[in-house]
Amino acid sequence: MFQSTPIRSVISPGRYVQGPGAITRLGEFLAPIGSTPLIVADDIVWGFVGHDVESSLRAAGLPITRENFNGIPSAAEIDRLVGVIAEANADVVVAVGGGSTIDAVKASGFLSGIRWVTVPSVASTDAPTSALAVIYTEDGAFEEYRFFPRNPDLVLVDSQIVANAPAAFLAAGVGDALATWLEARATSRSHSTTMAGGLPTLTGTALAKLSWEVLWENALPALDAVRDHVVTPAVEKVIEANTLLSGLGFESGGLAAAHAIHNGLTAAAQTHGLAHGQKVNIGSLTQLILEGAPTSDIRDFVEFTTRVGLPTTLTEIGLSVDDTDDLQRVAAAATVEGETIHNMPFEVRPADVVAAMKSLERFARRVREEAGLSAPQNYVSHGSSGSRQ
Ligand SMILES: [Zn+2]
Repeated sequence: MFQSTPIRSVISPGRYVQGPGAITRLGEFLAPIGSTPLIVADDIVWGFVGHDVESSLRAAGLPITRENFNGIPSAAEIDRLVGVIAEANADVVVAVGGGSTIDAVKASGFLSGIRWVTVPSVASTDAPTSALAVIYTEDGAFEEYRFFPRNPDLVLVDSQIVANAPAAFLAAGVGDALATWLEARATSRSHSTTMAGGLPTLTGTALAKLSWEVLWENALPALDAVRDHVVTPAVEKVIEANTLLSGLGFESGGLAAAHAIHNGLTAAAQTHGLAHGQKVNIGSLTQLILEGAPTSDIRDFVEFTTRVGLPTTLTEIGLSVDDTDDLQRVAAAATVEGETIHNMPFEVRPADVVAAMKSLERFARRVREEAGLSAPQNYVSHGSSGSRQ
């Protein structure tokens, strides 16, 4: 879809709003965008935010229509939502929930020719800010990226709602956001095109790097705070890094191997119970190995992301070094034509991906052993309030 003209481009949401209690001001920020909103949220999410959304919309004089989200951002679910939007005669569609809900809403809003708004209930991915959606098959395998001409008109994040969710969601978002800098750095080195449709800008690359720095400094104290469901300055910084900085950074800075390997992993059914950011972390480590990054960098990454609570071995994502067939399928999917792995500054063949992934197992185990760390527990699966993108 991209021309070969050497342009640089940055794209971004119309407005980003974040803070404890922000949900109570949704109506105020929504009213200038549309007068007939359709809210899409699954029953679980609606159970804990529905009351605040309703009173906020009522205070702004907006009607309240809510539609359930059925769990997978598949082509069929998107088409179903397009029908619901037409029936409701909505002029703006609002996703309240995780990355799956958000991706389905962005795609259905675009197809309906109306505006769209995202209200993430967790900070587990950077899906809320971007102008693209990841579409999955009904079985949960990666199908395609869909690109839209606009980002959401509004992204509204209530930090207290994010802090009320299990810490594992925030940890998954850290995994997604750490990849952003590794991939933007690779895209910048190879002068490849970004999801925004041009060469990377200094802005996109710098925001990706800022996201990385904020996370190394704040992720561990933020996760501790969220375990007690409190919002601290560290929590606010990590929510912004996971949602906004990472979103702008990946979209206008570029994706490379880590997300292609994530997409490849969805070809292995064993990984379907894992959140997007958990699989992305395996992608980041694999990318570092493919790059021949300094051993101390890879060691630090294994240690840090283990402390964050992310998987660093094949075993933790349901695979093993003996699953050669599965790993070859993953590598084939990760290296198909058009995948972002080809934004790496060197050629990556499927066999390289298999070797890098296999090498992770012993290396990560040894690093953890030397650091006195055990494998993280309490992974969340991407349920209704979790996410894929
Ligand atoms: Zn991602």
